[in-house]
Amino acid sequence: MDAKSSLRRAAELIKVSRCTLALTGAGISTESGIPDFRSPGTGLWNKMDPFKVASASAFLKDPAAFYRSFAELWHGYRQAEPNDAHRALARLEQEGMLSGVITQNIDGLHIKAGSRTVWEVHGNLRTCRCLSCGRSFSFEFLWERYRGGENPPRCGECRGVLRPNVVLFGDPLGEEFYAAARAMERCQLLITVGTSLTVYPVASLPQRAEKLIVVNREPTPYDGRADVVIRGSASQALAGIMAALEKI
Ligand code: NAD
Repeated sequence: MDAKSSLRRAAELIKVSRCTLALTGAGISTESGIPDFRSPGTGLWNKMDPFKVASASAFLKDPAAFYRSFAELWHGYRQAEPNDAHRALARLEQEGMLSGVITQNIDGLHIKAGSRTVWEVHGNLRTCRCLSCGRSFSFEFLWERYRGGENPPRCGECRGVLRPNVVLFGDPLGEEFYAAARAMERCQLLITVGTSLTVYPVASLPQRAEKLIVVNREPTPYDGRADVVIRGSASQALAGIMAALEKI
């Protein structure tokens, strides 16, 4: 299928579907300046092994080293702005053509773009919690402590170590993931955007979709069973789908 036919076919599938969901990954946010894990040359994996550094056991072993690797990076995620791909998904939802977004991202950009039903299955960078007393604080509170020289940042009440509410490698997935998995049971069409579809168990979700559109720069393990594969920039692909929808 040539590029134009793929966009038209994707638009037709969206138009007739009664329940469409999007599943997004780090690739949807690279055009907002946030590096993904696996893109050749620019992905974070070129610089570190996240399985080792971003794991729950690494955090517990040496939280100060963990914060030296991630505090600045995650503060940067919070300064990022949504791009046209996030905005297109928000618009699809507003126009009644998308029932929600399941995202592996912790950057909060879908919510910033105006999406309302969002399952952040790997957590978010809005809040953190104390590992000793369980109290909740804003991420800003944690950042101000870290920036003021306190590493690891500590609870304002009991001085326990603070931990962002993100899912690290080795952590169990939380209720957001199970809610997303339940939503997938009603899903007729899934649009995956900017995800290598290799991080399990999230990567098993497309198996439940009746129809599948894959938007990604590089090949994914699901390309063979997808109804439409659009290889390229997420923002351009989604802009192309929106334009094709207007012509139907
Ligand atoms: P990944 O790095 O494994 O895959 C990203 C995919 O996106 C790659 O296949 C790449 O080819 C593609 N891509 C990159 N830029 C693109 C663009 N502009 N348009 C279209 N495709 C593009 O990421 P993943 O599948 O999300 O899984 C890795 C894990 O990374 C997730 O669990 C996520 O929590 C975490 N992560 C999140 C962020 C974030 O919050 N923004 C950033 C880095 C990693």
